[in-house]
Amino acid sequence: MKRLQTLLWLVLLLGGQGIAHAKELHIVASLPALGQIARGVAGEFAEVKVLAHVGQDPHFVPPKPTLARHLARADLLVAAGLGLEIGWLPPLIEASRNDVIRPGGRGYLDARSVLTRVLGKPQGKITRALGDIHPDGNPHWWMDPLNGVRLANAIAERLSQLNPPHANDYRQHAANFAKQVHARLPAWRASLQAMSPLVSYHDSYLYLTRRFSLQVTGFVEPKPGIEPSTSHLDALVGTIGQTGVKGVWLEPYHDGPITRKLCSLAHTPCRIMPDAVKGEGFAGYIGMFELIAAGGQ
Ligand SMILES: [Zn+2]
Repeated sequence: MKRLQTLLWLVLLLGGQGIAHAKELHIVASLPALGQIARGVAGEFAEVKVLAHVGQDPHFVPPKPTLARHLARADLLVAAGLGLEIGWLPPLIEASRNDVIRPGGRGYLDARSVLTRVLGKPQGKITRALGDIHPDGNPHWWMDPLNGVRLANAIAERLSQLNPPHANDYRQHAANFAKQVHARLPAWRASLQAMSPLVSYHDSYLYLTRRFSLQVTGFVEPKPGIEPSTSHLDALVGTIGQTGVKGVWLEPYHDGPITRKLCSLAHTPCRIMPDAVKGEGFAGYIGMFELIAAGGQ
């Protein structure tokens, strides 16, 4: 009886370790859309935490101590990079004292490991007069669904190195995701092209508009991060009228009296086109494009 009990304890103990082993990887994503892709690739074989929340401006996230605590135990940090999180992620990484997830470390993954081409790299000398510009190029790359697929593949490869026994699972999840995205591309293209040309608030949709061949005829921000003057808005109302613009695109965090007034003066819809929506895993990321293709919130 004693031997049986010991055996039983041993089985329970090993079983428990088995479960712990499956969950042992900790992934942190800076932004919700990146976290959804990481969740989808990892499946049940990792825990995923996200630092920014849906609807939050990714350029400005308050670097709270709780966020540094998530980073302290992370095996992998997935970030947009290209300077998007420059104001808040480096101090959090510093506070986490986790060397593995520093840029260049084996637990750090951003645009540089994902993109074949960075769009919107400014030409010539960069000065403050250009506004709050992204000097490394446009960092809003996950707004192209095929970059989402590239990210899934990059995460699958990195997780395979970190946890080889589940390499096939990660790669299979990424491959299924690629299939789902490719199946939807034609419908998204058709719906989006019916909404072109457009004006966008910030240059957040560059990768999306290039992917689907949409025309952007102007920006509400005269320069990145700079609020528009009355004369800039007056000129934009004129441009919208002359070029047959079918809507002003903006993220939820840019919605306010300025854009509402512009849309009403220009007789064009304000379309809230989010850079993330609520949802779990790949379904959340795909749901964002479904919403955008349906004309926004
Ligand atoms: Zn930006």
